[in-house]
Amino acid sequence: MELGEIAAGQPKTDLLYLREMEIRQAEARVIKVVPEKRTHAYLILDQTIFHPKGGGQPSDRGVIRSREYEVTVKKAIHYKGVVIHWGKLNLGTPTEGDAACVLDWPYRHLVMRRHTAAHLLDHCLAKAIGRRVQTTDSWLDEPCYVGYAGTVPSEEALRGTEVLATRMIAKGASVSIKFLSSEEAKELLQNAPNYERLPDLSEIRTVTIDGCQPIPCGGTHVSNLADIGGVSVVNAEPLSDETYRLHFSVSANASSS
Ligand SMILES: [Zn+2]
Repeated sequence: MELGEIAAGQPKTDLLYLREMEIRQAEARVIKVVPEKRTHAYLILDQTIFHPKGGGQPSDRGVIRSREYEVTVKKAIHYKGVVIHWGKLNLGTPTEGDAACVLDWPYRHLVMRRHTAAHLLDHCLAKAIGRRVQTTDSWLDEPCYVGYAGTVPSEEALRGTEVLATRMIAKGASVSIKFLSSEEAKELLQNAPNYERLPDLSEIRTVTIDGCQPIPCGGTHVSNLADIGGVSVVNAEPLSDETYRLHFSVSANASSS
């Protein structure tokens, strides 16, 4: 069945992760179930902690369960404001009504650390090359990178980016979320690395690393730079269209608590 058919007539899903990024589990109400063969199903909830694939962030994974059934969520998909959860049936058959949702937290926390590191790299790269950077895209699963417009920076600038980012992570800084009106956003975000990709919304969510330019973003981040643990710039890969990908990794030793 097409996603449009599954989402038809359903209310927009309340996206809990936009306000509370550290929620790992929550109750929700299943409002629609569409079985797929006997092994899988699509579920729509009134509210969700599952971040769907989008904005460079891969889909969350986890479990939706009640006393009667359990579904392993493989993918959350955003369709015109409705989040559709697709998963494999482990036990019983899902039905409408109350359910418990639990994230695969180690994976989500890794993505949050990578996502925050990506914003930090925007800031540090701009400092290292001495001018504003413009992002083109990003991907926070594998391979993990941020795409930028322009030609590949010098090796010295890449090392400078990594050194500055490492220093800022060691020092720590709060990472906060704010909702701005469209007018406020246009004024405040002119230097944001993704300004050209801003959606035309009545309300724009921004993330700010203390001391850095606010960045419009709908993703999930850690609440302090220190939680990233560490970051390495792996390489910069030039692409044929005058853009390049800055491949990076975050250290594996940060706590996932
Ligand atoms: Zn973000």
